[in-house]
Amino acid sequence: MQRRELEAKGLLVTPGLIDLHAHLREPGFEESETIASGSRAALRGGFTTICAMPNTEPAIDSPGLVAEVIARGGAAAAARVLPIATITRGRTGRELADLIELSAAGAVAFSDDGSPVDDARLFRHALEYARTKDLLIIEHAQDISLSRNGVMHEGVVSARLGLPGIPSAAEDTAVARDIAIAEMTRARLHLTHISTRGAIASIRAAKARGLRITRGLGRRRPRIRVGAGGSANESRDRGIWAVVRWRTRAGPFRESGASRSRSARDAVRLVNEGQPATARVA
Ligand SMILES: [Zn+2]
Repeated sequence: MQRRELEAKGLLVTPGLIDLHAHLREPGFEESETIASGSRAALRGGFTTICAMPNTEPAIDSPGLVAEVIARGGAAAAARVLPIATITRGRTGRELADLIELSAAGAVAFSDDGSPVDDARLFRHALEYARTKDLLIIEHAQDISLSRNGVMHEGVVSARLGLPGIPSAAEDTAVARDIAIAEMTRARLHLTHISTRGAIASIRAAKARGLRITRGLGRRRPRIRVGAGGSANESRDRGIWAVVRWRTRAGPFRESGASRSRSARDAVRLVNEGQPATARVA
């Protein structure tokens, strides 16, 4: 094996990161992103594998489209692109896509991301099909009858701005439904962009019961904060270099298990050297 030395001063050295929730926007919205530009950008950020969400136009709901995403990802020769296919045909929530066929074509998971599978019976069937081949369903947990046309968290700020809000209950109730159906079907389930305290409590309790449920955070919520409320110098004196806190929209900052890890220390070092202070999570 050929050995090469690289100058890594001021850089983080990590294993290749994996993004489970990337939006490459192709086909249909190439003015925002393409498979090639997204996979090149991912690689620049340390991500060697990205899973592409299927809410494109057309939505990725057929084996041919799955193959097309894989081919374009391969042609980009950057981060490895793994397609996620839709749960329902056309992502319309009316009829199940052929999950088994899509999986055979290379889809690594299934999601109608951007929308929930509103029909509980259909969602049950999706999980039942997924269970037969141990496939992963990724659900956008939101009760759309409660969220309606809300554009932000419903609370004092939405009231002050006069903007329609989305109550926490829109997520709490959807997550409760999804967990109940996952429990009934014993399928694997990943709940995406979770942001409420109630949803986190429900997921924790479900995991404690042994259900195969995982969650992803809402975008823009993780922050790297320097120290436990103090300045960088104070924190360093106390031996705490960084505390990574996850902010839930209706609750306080939460400390993650990553606090005091080497990567957190390195992040603070970058902050001290004038690099951006906010961790980006796709
Ligand atoms: Zn998404």
